[in-house]
Amino acid sequence: MEDRIGMSDPLYRRVIVKLSGEALMGARGFGIDQAMVEGLASDLAAAAKLGVELGVVVGGGNIFRGVEVSKRGVERPVGDTMGMLATVMNCLALEAAVERAGCEARTLSALAMPSVCETYNRKRAVKNLGKGRVVLLAAGTGNPYFTTDTTAVLRAAELDAQAVLKATNVDGVYTADPKKDPKAKRYDKLSHQEALEKDLRVMDGTAFALARENRTPIIVFSIAEKGAIEQVLRGKGRATVVG
Ligand code: UDP
Repeated sequence: MEDRIGMSDPLYRRVIVKLSGEALMGARGFGIDQAMVEGLASDLAAAAKLGVELGVVVGGGNIFRGVEVSKRGVERPVGDTMGMLATVMNCLALEAAVERAGCEARTLSALAMPSVCETYNRKRAVKNLGKGRVVLLAAGTGNPYFTTDTTAVLRAAELDAQAVLKATNVDGVYTADPKKDPKAKRYDKLSHQEALEKDLRVMDGTAFALARENRTPIIVFSIAEKGAIEQVLRGKGRATVVG
């Protein structure tokens, strides 16, 4: 096909994309910015059209984070449940937008809410992925005290995904925060061990320990540019591969 000349085929068969709640927030400071959701959804739909199976773990930090809620006196497990429910709202917003972008999508929630969406289980997720649907993995692990980064690594292991694509607002892992330190250097590649020894904090400790144990590659990239997910799947664009 002419429009594919010069394009490389995707490197992966199945991946888990991790989007933080902040990616859906845009410049608003809280909640969901519809234009951001539409942009992410069209990127996801374009990536799915390459034939790569996509599971998407969405955070909830744009609405509630358990730790922050519990600082106001709510018990931590309750705050975390609020955080998990926030991820469900984000997933529902994305699900609708991915479908509008021309690709089938399904939200599967780790917390059962049968009148809203299907409940997550591994077989159901695999079945939906196999049908080419973008599978939105909602409500984190379903347990308090965990994060959606941990969820992404856990789902990658149980769904036999080849990598976690962690979308951030910088184009990879740096020696220091590039927004604060102009001398910070970017890595193209590094091992889990190096990231740990250099204390580079690619993900929270629990998530990273699980990735290291399962040797799950984590690809850190910036979601700011349109088509970023597709670029990473083709092995193009700027990103750091950990693992
Ligand atoms: N959360 C949880 N268990 C999980 C995943 C998430 O309790 O398995 C809660 C937790 O309170 C967390 C919130 O959901 O703060 C939102 O998730 P996260 O902070 O990972 O979102 P992100 O920072 O990626 O937007």
